[in-house]
Amino acid sequence: MILGIESSCDESALALLDRSKGIVGEWVSSQVTLHAEYGGVVPELASREHLSNFAPLLRELRNQHSFAEIDEIVVTAGPGLAGCLAMGIAVGNALSMSLNAPVYAANHLRAHAQSVFIETHAASPSGFDAELDRMLPHLSLIVSGGNTLLAHIDRDRSIELIGETIDDAAGEALDKGAKLLGLGYPGGPKLEAIARPGNPKSHDFPRALMEKANFDFSFSGLKTSLRYLIEGISEAELDRRLPDICSSYQEAVVDALIRKTGKALCNGDYRSVGLSGGVSNNGLLRQRFRDLAAGARVTPLLARKEHTGDNAGMIAFSRIFERSKDLETKIDIHPGARITEVF
Ligand code: AMP
Ligand code: MG
Repeated sequence: MILGIESSCDESALALLDRSKGIVGEWVSSQVTLHAEYGGVVPELASREHLSNFAPLLRELRNQHSFAEIDEIVVTAGPGLAGCLAMGIAVGNALSMSLNAPVYAANHLRAHAQSVFIETHAASPSGFDAELDRMLPHLSLIVSGGNTLLAHIDRDRSIELIGETIDDAAGEALDKGAKLLGLGYPGGPKLEAIARPGNPKSHDFPRALMEKANFDFSFSGLKTSLRYLIEGISEAELDRRLPDICSSYQEAVVDALIRKTGKALCNGDYRSVGLSGGVSNNGLLRQRFRDLAAGARVTPLLARKEHTGDNAGMIAFSRIFERSKDLETKIDIHPGARITEVF
């Protein structure tokens, strides 16, 4: 079995993946409530939390499985917060020594892109290679709190970045928008809930870079436009229009993501298209993504809800996807919010 370890931001997580069955267990400790008080993740607090969270998670794992079953370890080496990454890497290195099992470094963003194939593997582990061959080339939209990327996975499983945000990420736009509206942290899910009864056409928020002949995104203008709107109306009016404003704001983010993904789909001979990262929890985005794939006649692959945010299942799975090819055995920390250089 492969042990996956994730600690890049505010989730400490472990997963066990059985090569002939798929993921057999996942153990997660989330810090969301701790950081909510500060309106965002506090790096120093987060790394200390990982330090105290991994031991209980490992005990839970050992209550259900034997450590002796683990013959390989994969740990997130970046991108992420340096102190947080260091905690998971320390756990990986320590277990590697005590279990005499090799430890590999996984790239968190590549793992997100690959995570949409976890179910394909679980459905038929022995037939995975053939099934994957039928789904490549693949277009991947990765939308998380810190990154918005479009990537191309070629027939040989190599991943190439084809577009990214030039300023804020989609999740960041939702979080910052929610903060301006006083909804709290993390903003994405809160905004989605309030948007539900609202009218998505009540306010026309800008969609940037739509006419540009590339696959890049820009979301910072959206947030500024929301600020001007809020400054121009009374608190009572804001309260009254809140569902409509949230709905229109969410619509603008989703619309920009879908339109650029559609453009990229037209530009290649894709057989499948994948959606992953924390923002892919969003119901409207999932629905629009399925519609887009149906229109373009490509297979939609959406990460399961438990694999959309930070999780160790996808980290363990990266070992299956990449085989021995790209995972590094030398563990260097790759911090940084944007990973383009090491993607
Ligand atoms: P990650 O960076 O992958 O851990 O994902 C966190 C990001 O996902 C944050 O920006 C959240 O606001 C966003 N997010 C989580 N759930 C939702 C949702 N239901 N709708 C929109 N954004 C969401
Ligand atoms: Mg997170």
